[in-house]
Amino acid sequence: MGGLQTARAYIGLGSNLDEPVRQVSLAMKELDELPLTSVKAASSLYSSRPVGPQDQPDFVNAVVELETTLSPLALLDQLQALEQRHRRRRLRHWGPRTLDLDLLLFDDARIEHPRLKVPHPHMRERAFVLVPLQELDPSLAVFEQAPDHWLQRLDDPGLQRIGNSRG
Ligand code: ADP
Ligand code: MG
Repeated sequence: MGGLQTARAYIGLGSNLDEPVRQVSLAMKELDELPLTSVKAASSLYSSRPVGPQDQPDFVNAVVELETTLSPLALLDQLQALEQRHRRRRLRHWGPRTLDLDLLLFDDARIEHPRLKVPHPHMRERAFVLVPLQELDPSLAVFEQAPDHWLQRLDDPGLQRIGNSRG
């Protein structure tokens, strides 16, 4: 294993179908079981109003910090396989889903790939990403600024803490 680069990655989790709290809690456990990867920290769970179509249930969101020796694209493959295992139904853009896993940050990498953009392009506008990230590390750099810098630009975070990820 010597010589492999260990990276710190942050994953955003979201669910608004089929018992969202259970989907997100289970996904945290599954992330910890991925090859060459372990979960170092998990935020609280939060509930948020949906982005886009409003005629769908609220989301449950959280962020986890991973340590991994996977490459960014190999990690994305694993995240997408995990989404599939949760029988993700993608009915419409920004519609309801059983599990959404977004690769938010990968060390300080800037990635512009057809399948993968890092930092996640929308994370500056999403309180349900910024608040749990800030909980994990308020000094993190998100597009060169702390999470709080971006949070202060949002009108209404519309976010509620619903408890500890360990139940
Ligand atoms: P969203 O999360 O915006 O609702 P999806 O989960 O449906 O959208 O993802 C759509 C596509 O986004 C995926 O096919 C994936 O390849 C691409 N993608 C680009 N950058 C990222 C990223 N940082 N994390 C996750 N997916 C990404
Ligand atoms: Mg996604």
